Amino acid sequence: MSKIIVLIGAPGAGKGTQARLLQERHGVPQISTGDIFREMKNADTPLAREVQETMAAGKLISDDLTYKIVRERTSRDDCSEDYLLDGYPRTLVQAEQLEGLADEQGKTIAAVDVDVDRAELMRRLTGRRSCGVCGEIYNVYSKPPKVDGVCDFHPDTLLTHRADDNEESVGIRLATFDTATKPLLDYYEQSGRLAKVDGSGDFEDIYRAIVDAVGFGRN
Ligand code: AMP
Repeated sequence: MSKIIVLIGAPGAGKGTQARLLQERHGVPQISTGDIFREMKNADTPLAREVQETMAAGKLISDDLTYKIVRERTSRDDCSEDYLLDGYPRTLVQAEQLEGLADEQGKTIAAVDVDVDRAELMRRLTGRRSCGVCGEIYNVYSKPPKVDGVCDFHPDTLLTHRADDNEESVGIRLATFDTATKPLLDYYEQSGRLAKVDGSGDFEDIYRAIVDAVGFGRN
């Protein structure tokens, strides 16, 4: 049976980096609800403005809109086998909605808890930079680009700092993780579908731990 891999971790836990590695090395499509919302917010529609305001404040988009987006995206051909969700589900309601979707799609769910302590999360979030062209994620402390401020793959592109990586919305996002998303760890653990991975340290080591946890070979 194909799998839906769910990466759970606080903002800054490195889910995005790991999801991209799994996509590159194992061909597993990476569906990031955060990336989809970041793209959506650029349109000039009332919905886009609402998404933009909610994200800038560090709050969660409604469960129903998020579910619709995930359902639509995962119904495409590239998700007919294993796929990976980065940043979804983030609430118990979303986890229940995902159970229904997994049943419909005939897939099992494998959740991975990427655990990083709070001080390290703050450092990572405030140091995070990304390339607007390819989406590559860097960190000024732990994964700097070869040339300061510039993408390794797009030398003409200056790296950007996410609007919601400022101190105020980082605080709200971490608090939201504690109240809304942490209960998902118990939810998946109680049903025997949770693997725990230490998300601190070298990203290649974390990658190997995730690959082992979800039962992929080490590419
Ligand atoms: P991320 O890039 O995963 O940190 O997501 C950035 C922002 O997108 C979040 O702070 C939320 O505003 C929104 N978002 C992403 N995923 C979800 C989700 N599963 N449920 C609700 N809002 C989400």
